[in-house]
Amino acid sequence: MPLRKFVYFIRQKVNMKTVATMCLSLLALLLSGSAFAQGQGEPMLPYSPSLDLSSIDNSVDPCANLYQYACGRWQKNNPIPADQTSWSVYAKLYQDNLKFLRGILEQAAASGGTRDSVTQEIGDFYTACMDEGEAERRGLGALKAQLDAIEQPRSARELTSLVARLQLYVGGYRSLLFSAGSDQDPDNSERVIAVLGQGGLGLPDRDYYTREDAKSKEIRERYLQHVQKIFELLGENGESAKKHAETLMRMETGLAKASLTRVEQRDPYKLKNKTDLAALNKLAPNFDWEAYYRELRYPSIEIINVAPASFFVEVNRQLEAEPIENWKSYLRFHIADTSSPYLSSAFEQENFDFYRKYLRGAKEMQPRWKRCVQLTDYNLGEALGQAYVRKVFSPQLKQSTLDMVVRIEAAMEQRIRTLDWMSPETKQQALVKLHGIRNKIGYPDKWRDYSSVKITAKDFAGDIQRLTEFEHRRRIAKIGKPVDHGEWEISPTTVDAYYNAQMNDINFPAGVLQPPLYDPKMDDAPNYGNTGGTIGHELTHGFDDEGSQFDATGNLKNWWTDEDRKKFDERTKCVSGQYSNYVVVDDVHINGLLTMGEDVADLGGEILAYIAWKGATKNKDLSLMDGLTPEQRFFIGYAQWDCANERPEDMRMRAQVDPHSPPEYRINGVVVNMPEFAKAFGCKAGQPMVNPPEKVCRVW
Ligand SMILES: [Zn+2]
Repeated sequence: MPLRKFVYFIRQKVNMKTVATMCLSLLALLLSGSAFAQGQGEPMLPYSPSLDLSSIDNSVDPCANLYQYACGRWQKNNPIPADQTSWSVYAKLYQDNLKFLRGILEQAAASGGTRDSVTQEIGDFYTACMDEGEAERRGLGALKAQLDAIEQPRSARELTSLVARLQLYVGGYRSLLFSAGSDQDPDNSERVIAVLGQGGLGLPDRDYYTREDAKSKEIRERYLQHVQKIFELLGENGESAKKHAETLMRMETGLAKASLTRVEQRDPYKLKNKTDLAALNKLAPNFDWEAYYRELRYPSIEIINVAPASFFVEVNRQLEAEPIENWKSYLRFHIADTSSPYLSSAFEQENFDFYRKYLRGAKEMQPRWKRCVQLTDYNLGEALGQAYVRKVFSPQLKQSTLDMVVRIEAAMEQRIRTLDWMSPETKQQALVKLHGIRNKIGYPDKWRDYSSVKITAKDFAGDIQRLTEFEHRRRIAKIGKPVDHGEWEISPTTVDAYYNAQMNDINFPAGVLQPPLYDPKMDDAPNYGNTGGTIGHELTHGFDDEGSQFDATGNLKNWWTDEDRKKFDERTKCVSGQYSNYVVVDDVHINGLLTMGEDVADLGGEILAYIAWKGATKNKDLSLMDGLTPEQRFFIGYAQWDCANERPEDMRMRAQVDPHSPPEYRINGVVVNMPEFAKAFGCKAGQPMVNPPEKVCRVW
């Protein structure tokens, strides 16, 4: 979903299409164990508490380093599994979820004859995915129609309808030449319009093509080798493959230079450029836009948001400058590279070697069952989600988490009313926005219907291709129709949460409301510190440097007085200044402008959680537990949401593309600004976890 620019997750979402892994042997399948609990027929999720004393390292002073104190032994006890690029409480829960979902899918696959349509869809998809032998036998045959089509055009002008058709097969975070689809009109959030955006790259970000440091040069060299290898797997000899790889690199570098940086993309006005078809034809006349939209059967289009326009000027330039043979190479590489999950093991191996091993540091591929569970979740999330929530998300759980959401929102209201730096005028508008937020908990009220898609147990490549097309067409079909406010961007099984600025809604899937994050067996303190903080985080996104530019209805519209905006900017600058000082790996610092929204949300979220917790427990007699005060339990619960171990390769990549700060700073960077923390642990002025008063950052 490369087009959603204003959606903020608590964690970076996993890039599904490049997490391709490989084949597994039958032995690995037998040894890896399934989620079926011993002696029972039903899959179960394992339990771990939301405050875990065995994770604490008592040799560390919490006033010196809260993260090390709360997570030190977790780090020792939880080395990164060989098939993972990093490891954390979230990642572990996600992996537990995969095992659990595997149990559901194996049951669905084995259920045969009388099953309902949802069970058939997920069961057959999973069965087809697990048939590694068939993928190996078909090999490139699975892409024959696409590869044949790429050979047809005789001029760049004839590329239009080909690009249109091929884009339907490329999903996830990759796009072919550019990204396209629909989105809410930035000025009228109840209207869905056509959109065109930058894209078309094989490396994770445009900066990879432009940086001149030694590491970036090395990565480009390795990427060239990867592209060359894909051409060789497509049947080219070494010399031709090398030449085509160099051509592709030149074309992508041109696209990268015309793309906005991640920091620029955080400015909603840089992503707004509403135009129409006539103007688009003038902007990029070498592409036949009428034919493009006709081919994809778009509804009638009055407005297209084309941003950044400069990107399409570059597309247009290359359409003229590059001979048709170069375009064919470009398309062949991207179609093959993004299809590697359902091609032969040689493609999967190469995809893993470059994207997951070299760029992110994983040592081994994930076993095939894991990849298949993830692909089922990615492609049929709201079918698999139905089976999942029936087992893990009771109405009581929904009610208790909703209660917490309501309390956090009440805390936000209280905060806004008592802010000393904001005028009554702006406060009034902030409250309107707060009251306009929709809360979505657990799963959608209305499930997505995949019944129009043919899914069979014998055609994995076809299943994925048809489901990827289904998703593109679903998005295209939204144009001109009323906005569906019940829609979710992620599946119910996802261990993540998000705020969407144009919807003005906060979304917490069932997957993120499980222990050890939300733990119904535990007292309020760690639950508010952990899940309360997450809820507060998403809520604060509505009021961070970016979200605060959208109003209660999700329109990009200023509701601030100039004076208040200036004071707000000074406060967010304090946060970005603090985080820019933190080192990620080697000489790489946090890019405080990239992570500003997340850092502001982390800080605001925890302050809100603290206020809400105090409110929720004001008549309760809170006492020491396990030698810890309730306040200490609140902050340990907070820190333990993000206990993690990380590989340097992955940290380096995430410093460029991930708007979230590394785990240690997401914890310590927040509490240094909270006198409530210093008080809870008796920390003194001058200790590392206590910012001196003149350096304390506070936005909300
Ligand atoms: Zn966030």
